Amino acid sequence: MNTLRSLRRNFDHGVHPAHHKKQTEDLAIQRVPFVSDYVMPLGQHIGVPSQPVVEVGERVNRGQLIAKPGGFVSTALHSPVTGTISEIGDVRGADGVFAPAIQIAADPYATQQLESSAGVDWRSLSLEEFIDAVQMAGIVGMGGAAFPSHVKFSVPDGVQIRHLLINGSECEPYLTNDHRLMVERPEDLLLGAEIVRQTLGAEETVIGVEMNKPDAIEILRRHIQPDQPVRIVPLKVKYPQGAEKMIIKTIFDMEVPAGQLPRDVEVNVNNVGTIVAIADYFLRGLPSIERIVTVSGPGASYPANLIVPLGTPVREVLRFCGGLKDETREVILGGPMMGRPTASLDVPVLKGTSGILAFTEAETARPKEYPCIRCARCLEACPYFLNPSRFARLSRARMYDEMEQYSVMDCVECGCCTFACPSNIPIVQLIRTGKDALRASKENPE
Ligand code: SF4
Ligand code: SF4
Repeated sequence: MNTLRSLRRNFDHGVHPAHHKKQTEDLAIQRVPFVSDYVMPLGQHIGVPSQPVVEVGERVNRGQLIAKPGGFVSTALHSPVTGTISEIGDVRGADGVFAPAIQIAADPYATQQLESSAGVDWRSLSLEEFIDAVQMAGIVGMGGAAFPSHVKFSVPDGVQIRHLLINGSECEPYLTNDHRLMVERPEDLLLGAEIVRQTLGAEETVIGVEMNKPDAIEILRRHIQPDQPVRIVPLKVKYPQGAEKMIIKTIFDMEVPAGQLPRDVEVNVNNVGTIVAIADYFLRGLPSIERIVTVSGPGASYPANLIVPLGTPVREVLRFCGGLKDETREVILGGPMMGRPTASLDVPVLKGTSGILAFTEAETARPKEYPCIRCARCLEACPYFLNPSRFARLSRARMYDEMEQYSVMDCVECGCCTFACPSNIPIVQLIRTGKDALRASKENPE
């Protein structure tokens, strides 16, 4: 596929929020120093929480297993530091809800060297062994969803993956951590891609990168080895280009029907950070104990792209960046479209924490809401062809069963409808209320 053809192609609907990436796109990744205390929630991925394999008072090394997978849709957890297990019990999360976690007091005199720096001979592994290794390395989707990667690689018998698609679109405003990884670690990204492509038996790797990252496109193209079947495909800048079904539509012009998965159209999609995490594990033995986080927003004193050990309190990351400006009103974890405000700065950085964004009154003030004028702009914005205005109306009337009948569970909460609404109706917030009520009623049927 040539570049012009790929640029003509795109998914339908979506929106064009301002990028706000200038603050951090040229800032090289730097490592935050180790702090005194870490919190590792057992449920920091989608699925069943992990199960502790350590006890309070036990000494652990950096990279050591501290919790095993709680089931198939679950992953292992490893200690981000050398230290001592100080507590195992409930801690408050970013949503204000208490959930079980392992707390670790770092050893102030430890060198924080990794327990093992040897890689894994991935070529000798069967697909099943590779899947087990990815699960035990604790690798999840690093784009924010935190879906266990080994589940994605578990392709049923008879299904062939032809295309490994690496999602380098990073379409959320403000975030630049994938951008920096592509610019700073192109060899590792391409090696990680080869590990996954060869293990899955895919014909090619395609890396989709939005056109607002021309340096990443150029650097990646320069690093492709002659024996690597890799294409770099520049993408139009549009939100949510990074949603799996959207990027598949844009690049391959294929629809993934509702209720089906990318593998049903012979594609396996992974985020840039996830593929680099795979390279880190198979080439260097580094399990998932740290991630890249973008700190940005008008309230951040010194925006940055940082390597942060998992479990580091958000407050410590912000302290490293010079703290928050006085005018900060809200801190969002993730991007501004799909991220959520945090209830406290004492919550830890998790595997899915792609950004820490500090917003002032200007970004957080809720504009006056007006009645729906039935303009249909939310319908034209929704990339999943849902009817957001109907969801908002039904949610306000607490008609949650009706919301389900109109497929509210297909909503990915991308926020395009809210962004497009001229009446400032908080549509996605109303949708979340409805989905939460539906989930609660299923968990506790009367
Ligand atoms: S939040 Fe849901 S309903 Fe709104 S545009 Fe996104 S997918 Fe559609
Ligand atoms: S965009 Fe807003 S005002 Fe227009 S139809 Fe949708 S909810 Fe109503």
